[in-house]
Amino acid sequence: MRDNREPLIEISQEEFKTIGYELIDRIAGLMDSIDKTRVTPGETPKKLQHLLGHTSLPENGSPAEEIISRASELLINHSLFNGHPKFMGYITSSPAPIGMLGDLLASAINPNVGAQILSPIATEIEKQTVQWLAEFIGVSPNYGGLLVSGGNMANFTAFLAARTAKAPKGIKEEGLASSSKKMIAYCSKTTHTWIEKATVLFGHGSKSVRWIPTDSLNKMDNDLLEQAINNDLKEGHQPFMVVGTAGDVSTGVVDNLNAIAGICRIYDLWFHIDGAYGIPAAVIPELQPMFEGVKEADSIALDPHKWLYAPLEAGCTLVKNPQHLIDAYSSHPEYYNFSKNDEGASQNYYEFGLQNSRGFRALKVWLALQQVGRNGYVKMINEDIELAELLFELAENHSELEAISQNLSITTFRYVPRAYTSDIENHETYLNTLNEALVDELQQGGEVFLSNAIVKDKYCLRGCIVNFRTSKKDIEEIVEIVVKQGEKIHNRLYEK
Ligand SMILES: *Cc1c(COP(=O)(O)O)cnc(C)c1O
Repeated sequence: MRDNREPLIEISQEEFKTIGYELIDRIAGLMDSIDKTRVTPGETPKKLQHLLGHTSLPENGSPAEEIISRASELLINHSLFNGHPKFMGYITSSPAPIGMLGDLLASAINPNVGAQILSPIATEIEKQTVQWLAEFIGVSPNYGGLLVSGGNMANFTAFLAARTAKAPKGIKEEGLASSSKKMIAYCSKTTHTWIEKATVLFGHGSKSVRWIPTDSLNKMDNDLLEQAINNDLKEGHQPFMVVGTAGDVSTGVVDNLNAIAGICRIYDLWFHIDGAYGIPAAVIPELQPMFEGVKEADSIALDPHKWLYAPLEAGCTLVKNPQHLIDAYSSHPEYYNFSKNDEGASQNYYEFGLQNSRGFRALKVWLALQQVGRNGYVKMINEDIELAELLFELAENHSELEAISQNLSITTFRYVPRAYTSDIENHETYLNTLNEALVDELQQGGEVFLSNAIVKDKYCLRGCIVNFRTSKKDIEEIVEIVVKQGEKIHNRLYEK
């Protein structure tokens, strides 16, 4: 080898600046004009594959500037933009611009936040972020935890801590066989699919979940919860965990957390809250009664890439007694000499969760929390809720729309054509077909992006506003777009 390597992957300082500035210009341009573009070009995978070309792995390199330029062109012209003011599908927020810069900075420094020695200041920033998130949602700042990739991982991380805490002592060595009893978890039937994955992943099996029916308000029916626990006890099983949902994915309902906390106390169960969507709303003083009981949770999953507007990916697990994370995840292989320190204060995040090497996801969250502060979030989250309420109101007052539900920043509604004669046989079935076709049409059309929900057997359009760019005008326009497209599809379907 020569004395001076010239690694092809290196980029000179001058070139880095040229490419970087140009990229920043393009991104700034995108943000500036995003409201004038379509939410999505709605292109088929086939068309996109054609665009990429069916080429094999490059044998040799190409100039970085060219590749970055092509990549930004591809992404800017062929993406769905959840940063668009009329995007309100599923639960994906507009990315906070400061988070974009944070991710760039994080990857430039590239701290490995698995071990403190590899990420001295980054570990401290993550600790502070975790503390601030606990304060944000109104629990004790002594909760501990870590940043993970999203809501699913946040819930998984808590699930394994819960089952390790509640299982017989030998669980880590002997596995589930160390328990003669089947360990049972309880949750509302509206709970997100993560719970099924968790029981499969950690060996409990999906039959160890009791899906508790909901009451008329769509909250977990806590009488039925208690009955189910008692039934399982009679059967000789071991109830170990109850999941309360703070903002269910379909309609945004928050379970009666305080009552669930009470039941967990009586039966000595781990109380977990899945707050991936809704728990940031606990920052709003007027909404605090809805979140009563949060302080009692043994663990909480939240998702900064939803209602804290962090760019993907950022989830967070908070645990009341962080020792439970260490109990579940810590091990000390001889090839790590991470634990030596003077003050006993080192914190190695690989001992807190499932990942080993870890990126610096906390940075973008930490930056946004400082940029706007608690008050900035109170305002933005409140506005999102007000816009969802406006959407509900407009649907309620429109002769061709039926407003169905409104909780937090989620509104469901459906299109019911005026020229609709209720003598159509199976008219509920027809309305479901019509609204399903309408969701498909809207999602492809690119004027607005809504998703769907099924509420009391009705196929609904669903708007979830975790979008600081959405305005009153967008909501008014969305209503018009829905009705216009609805009429078109009705005419097409009805004439058949
Ligand atoms: C979004 C969501 C999840 C999953 O979170 P991801 O970030 O998509 O992994 C889990 N539970 C609830 C209530 C959610 O809203």
